[in-house]
Amino acid sequence: MASVKFENITKEYPKGIRALKNINLYIDDSEFIVLVGPSGCGKSTALRIIAGLEDCTEGNLYIGGQPVKNVRPKDRNIAMVFQNYALYPHLTVFDNMAFGMKMRKTAKAEIKERITGAAEMLHIEELLGRKPGELSGGQKQRVALGRAIVREPGVFLLDEPLSNLDAELRAQMRIEIIKLHKKLGTTFIYVTHDQTEAMTMADRIVVMKDGTIQQTGTPKIIYENPANIFTAGFIGSPRMNFIEAAVILYEDSILLKTDSFTLPLDKTAYNKDILKKYSGRKLIAGIRPEDIDCTAGNNGYVIDAVHEITETLGYEDYVHFDVSGEKITARSGRKEKFKEGTSVKISLDLKRMHLFDKESKKNIIY
Ligand code: ADP
Repeated sequence: MASVKFENITKEYPKGIRALKNINLYIDDSEFIVLVGPSGCGKSTALRIIAGLEDCTEGNLYIGGQPVKNVRPKDRNIAMVFQNYALYPHLTVFDNMAFGMKMRKTAKAEIKERITGAAEMLHIEELLGRKPGELSGGQKQRVALGRAIVREPGVFLLDEPLSNLDAELRAQMRIEIIKLHKKLGTTFIYVTHDQTEAMTMADRIVVMKDGTIQQTGTPKIIYENPANIFTAGFIGSPRMNFIEAAVILYEDSILLKTDSFTLPLDKTAYNKDILKKYSGRKLIAGIRPEDIDCTAGNNGYVIDAVHEITETLGYEDYVHFDVSGEKITARSGRKEKFKEGTSVKISLDLKRMHLFDKESKKNIIY
């Protein structure tokens, strides 16, 4: 078991491509950390630097409190699981799992014991005699995990391990990996572009963009208090709705005014002193699809919306509206049915409105 610390780490590839820009991050021993962000944001580079497959250009990396600049990958006490499984096709599952241990001259009996233990944990005992060509994608991924487990590393590095699996298997393997982490109690650092994986698996999520960390926090904090527009839009599906608006402090009320509506914000949910600075200025208001009620009728503060289209998922619907040219998406139960082109009154949960600075893109009340 081990902690991992990034201290001012920058990685520049040839031609001036800066994949990581001054990254500072402390990952505690036994934590399950998910690095999430769009393709090209630097997630894999961060993982490869921990593994020792890449050197950083600036900064220091510590594993278990020790600087690892001069420590070779095989001596770093880590194991990596890749998206493409990286199994040797000519070796059986047993020999794939045994390979690293044989190289390190581990005793035969111990190899057998570790493989048996890992195979039991992953329910792949009956596959040990097969070759990778005789396995399904999900089985190959289990074997790749097994090969990492038998190394008994201090840190597991997982690079998009579920991307090649179909949706059902992905959901199943997500749960298995969470259980595995609980059972092993080892540090897991998991890279993905999939916000659902990040939300469901992580103790803490690290949201990345363009080689920088946008926010670090528990899934709940990231979801409920996104630090900026990027995080707010990236985490959550369907994504948060954004509308340009102004804040007006009028007598004792805080009014949110857009081109098409004016609504009073719940004054207990916002710091008036901070909002004062934004009085009369344009900012970006954000509201999540589940914080919009399309069944409000004429009750409370409602706004006029035109129904455009409904996506039906079975357990719920995503209902898309036009509000004076702004596109708004709401999540709705299965019972409400709207006709295309009809006018609908919708209400926004005014305690749950997020407000972002238009220039810095930061959450002004974060
Ligand atoms: P992610 O894993 O988030 O998709 P990567 O860490 O793979 O992102 O890449 C970050 C940036 O670094 C991208 O712009 C990518 O094109 C660039 N990059 C990655 N590997 C190399 C490399 N070996 N040489 C040059 N540029 C690279």
